Amino acid sequence: MEKVIIIRYSEIHLKGKNRGYFERVFAINMEKTLKGLKHEIHRQSGRYLIENFDLDDTDEILDRLKRVFGIHSMSVALKVNSDMGEIYKAAKSVCSAFGAFKVETHRADKKFALNSMQISAEIGGRLLSENKKLTVDVHSPEFIIHIDVRENGTTLVFNEFFKGAGGMPVGTSGKGMLLISGGIDSPVAGHMIAKRGMNVDCIHFHSYPYTNMQARDKVIELAKVLSKYTCGTRLNIISVTHIQEEIHKNCNEEYMVTLLRRFMMRIAERIAITCGAQCLITGESLGQVASQTVEGITSSNSVIEKLPVLRPLCGFDKDEIIERSREIGAYEISIQPYEDCCTVFLPRHPVIKPSLASVLEEEQKLDVEKLLEEALSSREIIDL
Ligand code: ATP
Ligand code: MG
Repeated sequence: MEKVIIIRYSEIHLKGKNRGYFERVFAINMEKTLKGLKHEIHRQSGRYLIENFDLDDTDEILDRLKRVFGIHSMSVALKVNSDMGEIYKAAKSVCSAFGAFKVETHRADKKFALNSMQISAEIGGRLLSENKKLTVDVHSPEFIIHIDVRENGTTLVFNEFFKGAGGMPVGTSGKGMLLISGGIDSPVAGHMIAKRGMNVDCIHFHSYPYTNMQARDKVIELAKVLSKYTCGTRLNIISVTHIQEEIHKNCNEEYMVTLLRRFMMRIAERIAITCGAQCLITGESLGQVASQTVEGITSSNSVIEKLPVLRPLCGFDKDEIIERSREIGAYEISIQPYEDCCTVFLPRHPVIKPSLASVLEEEQKLDVEKLLEEALSSREIIDL
């Protein structure tokens, strides 16, 4: 009896003619995720099997695969020849020592001598007659033994389903550029968009030496968390120190964050285009802070020339975002207390509903293009 892991996909099967492409990307993503662990991945009509792995690695493999988008569910199964004696032995070894159970059989191999009802009845009956602590309950069993008779002469027997991450394989929906801060929201936003099949690269703005190296390390750690779901990511790091100094020196301090946001969006768009990213992604949530009122978003959005901006968290409350942040393993990193560039030179009273006209008036006091070029030349790239 060989142990295998059954991988069932979620939305991939909906993609009609593109199915082959989706499956290829999906298999490559699983391969990258399992890198370093002994295994083989085989496709079997409508599912994948992970085979030939070290049994000691089973939990690690399941843990890693739980981050692969496109997986609907997984089961650790015993693979045997489609022979009633072997199927029975496998069923016995996944069967609990006591309790109410039922056997559920799926028979893809229509040439197999017994139909699914007969297989379930025979295997269930034998288990029952050999162990008096078992009972059968087909309506509300405590556990179910699944028997899956495949077309290729093998049968899979298992008793558990693990939930997959759902979504679509990363890479099947193009690429986006995530504006990642050290906060709670942006990694969650990146994760949500990656779940829809998008590759995510990251861009981070810092104000070193006003912000410190720990703040930078924290962002690298957050991008690493994200990269576990995206099979790798490229982090672009840009200094906005001089931009902030110039705003501080020349403009009404109430506009610090509003103006800085416009610079960030411009830089992010330019870098996104050079990287082949087709959209920007931010962690903005409507009304959460002053810069995220609809007026604030209008102001930062109006500098964007070509790309759409995705704001997947717009309708989320903070506690919903925190819950997701915990689920993806980012929260403990996000709450480390290092300053973001937006908190440097923070005005006592940031403008809450800036009119575009007033923003433009303040911005005219700066040499925007020169500051942009200078910031772009500070670009540093880290591949994760
Ligand atoms: P987050 O938790 O993601 O920091 P936030 O609630 O603190 O979000 P803001 O600081 O207003 O909100 O930032 C809104 C969005 O702007 C962020 O989600 C992120 O996409 C982007 N952003 C903010 N600061 C930076 C930064 N230093 N580098 C890159 N992007 C940033
Ligand atoms: Mg922030």
